[in-house]
Amino acid sequence: MSDEDRLDTYRAMRDFEATPEPAGTQPQPSDRARFVVQEHHATSLHWDLRLERDGVLVSWAVPKGIPPDPRRNHLAVHTEDHPLEYLTFAGDIPDGSYGAGGMSIWDQGTYFTHKFDEQEVMVTFEGERTRGRYVLFRTKGDQWMIHRMDAPEDPSRELMPTAFELMQPVDDELPSDDDGWAFEFDWPGARFAVGVEGGRCHATARGAEVTGVWPELAPFGRAIGALPVALDVVAVTLGTDGRPDSVRLARRRDAKSASATRRLARQVPATVLPVDVLWLDGHSTADLSYRERRRLLADLALEGPRWRTPPSHEGAGDAVAAAAAQQGLPGVIAKHLDSPYVAGRSELWRRVASPRPTL
Ligand code: MN
Repeated sequence: MSDEDRLDTYRAMRDFEATPEPAGTQPQPSDRARFVVQEHHATSLHWDLRLERDGVLVSWAVPKGIPPDPRRNHLAVHTEDHPLEYLTFAGDIPDGSYGAGGMSIWDQGTYFTHKFDEQEVMVTFEGERTRGRYVLFRTKGDQWMIHRMDAPEDPSRELMPTAFELMQPVDDELPSDDDGWAFEFDWPGARFAVGVEGGRCHATARGAEVTGVWPELAPFGRAIGALPVALDVVAVTLGTDGRPDSVRLARRRDAKSASATRRLARQVPATVLPVDVLWLDGHSTADLSYRERRRLLADLALEGPRWRTPPSHEGAGDAVAAAAAQQGLPGVIAKHLDSPYVAGRSELWRRVASPRPTL
């Protein structure tokens, strides 16, 4: 009989809505030990889970991080025990050293042990981000899996879909009244949806996977880290004049092999422009308004060497259209501030072509 089940009789005799007595569901402080989860930007991004036990930190490297959902287990690779001082370690491990790369504390707290042996470790975490009952079980050698046993704290949490249908504008003119509209440049590039989980990207366009076409997504995903998010993005390639270049883009798209893709990605790098948020932390954002989604996008602060959130302007459609034409861009997209994210074509988004240059 496990320690927990010993309280079954005690609990069965009491109504804890009526009595102030403890239900015995809270682990007692004396039973608790400390844990830490470090985000480790080594050659391959992973999260290091370390549990205080017998004077050391028993450790696993978890490539996709601590799973928030019981329906999805994550691989956990058992690694060497670390000293207790590692509970508070954060810093840069220098190049050439084992595990070179930045390490930061992603979560810390205490845990209650239900079971702890060579094959199975069952614990309840009480951290800032990691809370609830988990089991680590050994599958083969150093390979373990980590599984969330109880329902997520947010029971309405859902698994991210593997593909998204993008919202498409209709061809139209500028709205007669700017009020209620936002304006973005119409970037000539490859548009696709990208889901990020455990710092890994999965990109799809019209249902087909395109992740391999854009090696730029790997550092983009690492920069996002553990937050599950899906974005509507446009990948653009810039010419020597700094403007989007469709010939270079076509070369990137048409690469015939993985090695050609990698070579072209070095020669003709793309910049990833996130233009909308489709999913965030277990929930679709499609029913939020464009204005709310743009706020979420701004909060993600996606700015890096090969990615950048492009501006969106509320009102001033004429000025944005003039700037697009001046920069040789195809036009602007007018997006209604109240518009939900609708799969497929919608009149809530309008593509407005730049006037043809007069010669
Ligand atoms: Mn590590």
